[in-house]
Amino acid sequence: MSMRKCLVIGAGLAGATAARLLADRGEKVHVIEKREHPGGNCYDEKTNAGVTVHKYGPHIFHTNMTDVWQFCQRFSRFNLYQHRVLSYVDGQLLPFPINRDTVCRLFGVEMGIRDVESFLADEVARSSYREPPENFKDAVISQVGTYLYDKFFHNYTRKQWSADPETLSAEIAGRIPIRSNRDDRYFTDLYQGLPEHGYTAMIESMLDHPSITIEFNTDYFLARSEFDKPGKYDLKVYTGELDKFFDEAYGRLEYRSVKFEFRTVDQEVFQPAAVVNYPNDYDFTRITEFKHMTMEKSKKTELCLEYPSAQGIPSYVVLNQENIGKRQAYLDHVNDLEEQGKALFVGRLAEYRYYNMDQVIASVMNKLK
Ligand SMILES: Cc1cc2nc3c(=O)[nH]c(=O)nc-3n(C[C@H](O)[C@H](O)[C@H](O)COP(=O)(O)OP(=O)(O)OC[C@H]3O[C@@H](n4cnc5c(N)ncnc54)[C@H](O)[C@@H]3O)c2cc1C
Repeated sequence: MSMRKCLVIGAGLAGATAARLLADRGEKVHVIEKREHPGGNCYDEKTNAGVTVHKYGPHIFHTNMTDVWQFCQRFSRFNLYQHRVLSYVDGQLLPFPINRDTVCRLFGVEMGIRDVESFLADEVARSSYREPPENFKDAVISQVGTYLYDKFFHNYTRKQWSADPETLSAEIAGRIPIRSNRDDRYFTDLYQGLPEHGYTAMIESMLDHPSITIEFNTDYFLARSEFDKPGKYDLKVYTGELDKFFDEAYGRLEYRSVKFEFRTVDQEVFQPAAVVNYPNDYDFTRITEFKHMTMEKSKKTELCLEYPSAQGIPSYVVLNQENIGKRQAYLDHVNDLEEQGKALFVGRLAEYRYYNMDQVIASVMNKLK
């Protein structure tokens, strides 16, 4: 059987996974990437201070999917980092998600597991919200009550989305982890960690295969007629923005972006955890101190402050009814193209979903089964 010629558009995690799986099964793959580096939003690099920073915000790998974890292990060893987040509320740094210590320290009292459970149940019982929840605010209050919603969620969400939480869909809240015990890990997945030498190195290793070629600084839409020439490629794997591929035929899909401000600080440690959320103070939402995640040693430390913004590189899909409707219209076209076996749409932009990294890999594995 002759090798198929495949074009992969985008060298982020979705594109790199697809390229590697295709190359592993004997296909010839050409990857084009409009940025000057691989890795998409997982891209990281080491600074002069000797600390690896994530240029598009902090990324922690966590999954319960053994096949996804094993796939990643082929390209990098992982450190055994478990993520912890604190939230700056009423002048204290409190564990987040809310757990027994959060509640005890917020009220300055000692409570046992049962006390915390009944406190939370009472809080919810004396709060008013619509059931089933009609929006983000209802969804959170139905789980933690109004008091904790106001302290930890309301202002953070306003900053993150620049919108009143009552106008946001209940879906964004999902199930909020609340713990009556002292578990202060942000994620509880079976497998967690960061690639030992960073995400860029891991993704470069995925792309390192004799049947894969890569071109950077190459935007598919600037030479589309060239890439679409009949007979040039047998299969296209698209990982860019879904609406762009169809010339926005059903309207623009919205994204929320983030402006990242990086700071090198001349001290060994700045804060006691990798991430501190600032729900009620300042314009930024959170500060990341990368050292805690990468476990690198340096006399200096590297920070990243996040300012949510309407403009910039697409970061988060905006899941309101309008965008969900548009997405469906585009995905109907995608299904037709995929059934013909000529194209695959994978990743958070091409599928217009909020995907964690493991879900991106799983989606590619599933479509290339
Ligand atoms: C602030 C932030 C923090 C996150 N933290 C975590 C976390 O802790 N854990 C986790 O699991 N996930 C996290 N995520 C999600 C994670 O970033 C994504 O799951 C992952 O990056 C998606 O990979 P992708 O390849 O689908 O998309 P991308 O990373 O966006 O890659 C797409 C690539 O395609 C390229 N491209 C687009 N259009 C074209 C074109 N026309 N021509 C050529 N190239 C093109 C882009 O330049 C880009 O390199 C986070 C996301 C954000 C925004």
